[in-house]
Amino acid sequence: MPGRRKSATPFWETKTLSQMTHREWESLCDGCGRCCLHKLENTETGEIHYTSVACKLLDTDTARCGDYKQRLQHVPDCIVLKKEHVGHLGWLPDSCAYRRLDEGRGLPDWHPLVSGNSDSVHAAGISVRGRVKPGQGVTEAEYEEHLIDWIPQGQRSCPEIP
Ligand code: SF4
Repeated sequence: MPGRRKSATPFWETKTLSQMTHREWESLCDGCGRCCLHKLENTETGEIHYTSVACKLLDTDTARCGDYKQRLQHVPDCIVLKKEHVGHLGWLPDSCAYRRLDEGRGLPDWHPLVSGNSDSVHAAGISVRGRVKPGQGVTEAEYEEHLIDWIPQGQRSCPEIP
């Protein structure tokens, strides 16, 4: 019996975000942790500015959520990325795989799906691993003191989409 031939073109090049399976969609996350940083929005322009203050659940040594499955119980306003957000992902970091594909920019060489190595996102200096502060102990009023410039500002805030 002949073996199945492996598709030469990866799914992220043949499917739109909306066409992806749940598993494919989830696999797009590169584990950078950038979206888990507190952000400030310019209320006049809608621009998003990232801070070096992490969500209280983010493990700053690994850049992974400390309780991904139960995260909404700990952080009710955590935004769960869904296909309904496609077309409205400008608030995410410009390196984010979801935003990149939504904007037709493809995945970069350092993305784990391309490199085949989950460490490549850290080696490329994209992830927040070891670069940010745990969220506990920093008040919202202090966020402005912790703005960072190594994540280009986002374009717009997340719209009211469930
Ligand atoms: S910014 Fe995008 S790729 Fe990075 S952790 Fe968040 S969802 Fe995943």
